[in-house]
Amino acid sequence: MSTLPSNLKQIAFFLERLPGIGAKTANRLAFYLLRLPERDLKDFAQSISTLKSKTKMCKLCMNLTEVELCDIDEDQGRDNLTITVVEEVLDLLSFETGGIYKGVYHVLHGKIDPLNHIGPDDIYIEKLLSRVQSPKYKVKEIILAMNPDMEGESTAMYIRDRLNEIKRRTGADFKITRLAYGLPIGASLEYADYMTLRKSIEGRNEF
Ligand SMILES: [Zn+2]
Repeated sequence: MSTLPSNLKQIAFFLERLPGIGAKTANRLAFYLLRLPERDLKDFAQSISTLKSKTKMCKLCMNLTEVELCDIDEDQGRDNLTITVVEEVLDLLSFETGGIYKGVYHVLHGKIDPLNHIGPDDIYIEKLLSRVQSPKYKVKEIILAMNPDMEGESTAMYIRDRLNEIKRRTGADFKITRLAYGLPIGASLEYADYMTLRKSIEGRNEF
């Protein structure tokens, strides 16, 4: 590394900080950048330099956007009475990539994780609750799509309890659902773990 010019070294050093990139890959990527046309590099540098300042949170669902409302909330064709609550924007993207869902979202930007000192007030739960309670809004269903791990589960339970409290207090009538647990497509029962099998049998459907 010591023989590299300092600007290249600096770029490799930065790339190495990205997840999943080791020193060798960082060097290789830095050399790759060096071979790109000047124009492309300038565009790339421009995008990086405005990445933070241009990216905002949608004022309704906390998805990322460059304007007030994200594309999903602007889309008149979406069912805005069904809200899927996800931990991260990347989870939302998974639903969108599949084109399997026509409702809207709420992004928490995290999950309740006491071991890492993340409580309910550190993620965007209150924002969801006030959205559900806004006077002109009649939500039909809230789908809790947190990951099926311990923190995801306790986050879902916390939100469920808070939503039930709103239902009791305001008489609002909406469904609270949780994504089904179960076996992945193509899985073999022989290799499924006990928890997955238990959740699959609990969540079985009529066939
Ligand atoms: Zn939005």
